[in-house]
Amino acid sequence: MPTKQRAWSSADASLPVAIEVLRRGPISRAELARRLQLTRGSLSRLSAPLLQSGILREVGEHNDGRVGRPTQLLDVDADASTFVGIKLRENEVIVALTNLRGHILRSNTAALTAGDPESVVAIIAEQVRVVAAETPPSAIGIGIGALIRDRADVVSAPFLGWRDVPLARLVSDATGIPTLIDNDVLAFTEYEHWFGEGRDDERFAVVSLGSGTGFGLVANGALVTASDYGIGLVGHWPLDPAGPMCPDGHRGCAMSLLDSDSVARRTSDALGRPVDYETTLQLAREGQPAARRIVDEAGRGLGRLLAAICNLTLPQHLIIAGEGVGLARVAWDAIHEGIRADRDPRAITPPIVITSGDNAGWCRGAAALAIQAYVQGRLHDTSA
Ligand SMILES: [Zn+2]
Repeated sequence: MPTKQRAWSSADASLPVAIEVLRRGPISRAELARRLQLTRGSLSRLSAPLLQSGILREVGEHNDGRVGRPTQLLDVDADASTFVGIKLRENEVIVALTNLRGHILRSNTAALTAGDPESVVAIIAEQVRVVAAETPPSAIGIGIGALIRDRADVVSAPFLGWRDVPLARLVSDATGIPTLIDNDVLAFTEYEHWFGEGRDDERFAVVSLGSGTGFGLVANGALVTASDYGIGLVGHWPLDPAGPMCPDGHRGCAMSLLDSDSVARRTSDALGRPVDYETTLQLAREGQPAARRIVDEAGRGLGRLLAAICNLTLPQHLIIAGEGVGLARVAWDAIHEGIRADRDPRAITPPIVITSGDNAGWCRGAAALAIQAYVQGRLHDTSA
């Protein structure tokens, strides 16, 4: 596994080539050279050690339509190694086995019977054995809605009551497999950047909806992150000066308008009977007036958040994710109302991609952490 202290080596120069083939292969050398802005000579020099070590391989033949003999394409052997991506929730753990491109091969969900780190690690280790019975995976990635340090330690995870838990080391010790952890929205954004909807973008943003509002950003082709990521900085972003109050005393912040619990609670209060988030969305779809009003308020608030993101970060795509993603469909018109309110009419709003919001997306994100570390580690092992 790579460490921060390692000195720069020739492997660092070859890494972008390996990553680009992993993301886009099979790919011709000409296309690869163009994408990485390398001369053909530089590309040959950088790809030679990758081919020698078997990280890359030549496959098939490709004729680009020009006169001359067809060229060979470069690719990775996507199924030669497997990875585990895990989404850790309050009550359950979802474990997926993926290939090198993050495609899910199989998955399993297990209830968390106890929330202490020792019990959770034991369940994770057991579930890794269940999904990866045949061959041990090369690495494990875990996504968790928490503040994480160095892809290794949980600084704080309020939903589990954890502080300073060295989760990566505990899982690695229990399984014998290198393990990385990170904030779930950040991991999801990594996956979209490497393999998903943001693959071709220099800049894109992710907004996740559900029990909290999450934000992920790629700018200049790289994930934007810092030690404060995972505190939940977008949760109290002001969206509606006449909106409801959050527990911290902000009127109309993202938490008060968008969190699934808040939406359900406000609808329950209005209807005089308890309804959950998904029922609220269904009632709004059917035109129930109170549910419609509350969902549209949330939609306008989400639109204003998207407008702020567009105005400040100029994304080429907006990706909506998370288990609360249904709001984006039901409140689609209100979202655009909110965007229009805060955008210059000349500004072109980028395409909004609504993802499935299911657990598979979170697991693929977690697996992306493992895949990245594996590719970097393998390259350095080879060049050492
Ligand atoms: Zn607030």
